[in-house]
Amino acid sequence: MVRMPTSHAPATDRSGLRLMHVHAHPDDESSKGAASTAMYAAQGAQVRVVTCTGGERGSILNPKMDRPEILANITEVRRQEMERARDILGITQSWLGFVDSGWPDGDPKPPLPEGCFGLVPLEEATERLVREVRAFRPHVMTTYDERGGYPHPDHIRCHEVSVAAFAAAGDPDRFPDAGEPWQPLKLYYHHSFNRPRMQALHDAMLEHGLESPWAERLKEWKPEPEWDDRITTRVPCGDYFGVRDQALLAHATQIDPDGFWFAIPRELQQEVWPTEDFELVESHVPSSVPEDDLFAGVTPDA
Ligand SMILES: [Zn+2]
Repeated sequence: MVRMPTSHAPATDRSGLRLMHVHAHPDDESSKGAASTAMYAAQGAQVRVVTCTGGERGSILNPKMDRPEILANITEVRRQEMERARDILGITQSWLGFVDSGWPDGDPKPPLPEGCFGLVPLEEATERLVREVRAFRPHVMTTYDERGGYPHPDHIRCHEVSVAAFAAAGDPDRFPDAGEPWQPLKLYYHHSFNRPRMQALHDAMLEHGLESPWAERLKEWKPEPEWDDRITTRVPCGDYFGVRDQALLAHATQIDPDGFWFAIPRELQQEVWPTEDFELVESHVPSSVPEDDLFAGVTPDA
């Protein structure tokens, strides 16, 4: 029998695998882990983003969109932006239905606004997320680390609610009215915004005679080797950086196309740091780290 040579390795098939990302605001799904999200979705995994708040208190960060009629309809505008990003990434998305806490500006910080996500009792928010987990039945969940990735009150709360829901969703005694118990197998924190990556991209820009967008940030950000050592999982997904960028651009009120997000040529990013990075914090399947796949050790549903 003659074996025909194949020019391409068969694409990885992720059918029967489900991944849930829990995020604080619309746009966070496109700025954290978006390339691996697009890759897993393209390979056949089902990916669901749960967005805790509507992003109602986000400022308009793109000068071209800073217009009164957009600000007056910001909730609806951000919904539409989220729908575009969702379609670009090839995922599904649901809203947990809480209200953005806003960034507390000032010294001392002002109190959080009444009724916002940051003030909702943990049990109440956890029950809503448990309901989402039990309905979607993810094998893998991701969220922010305990510092929130950055210290927005909604990001800290998103971390707390996700960790609580990961622990509760499989327990029949917790939230018995929120659906059939389902235990996700692995929990990860996002770690792509790490200093070594920023330094590597900064150095590469200078080597190519380009202006780095990170010079100031690096001066202020002291090295944190112990923090960086927490990374267990680097997912190669450079081929999907273009999809990530399109999803980011869909959040037109939040992302300035002429801003720092796009200051580093994509080819340089693919060459210098072609992964998105995560920390495996809990696993109910045998896993050995370091690893390069969020689904390592997970068997797909038949
Ligand atoms: Zn956010």
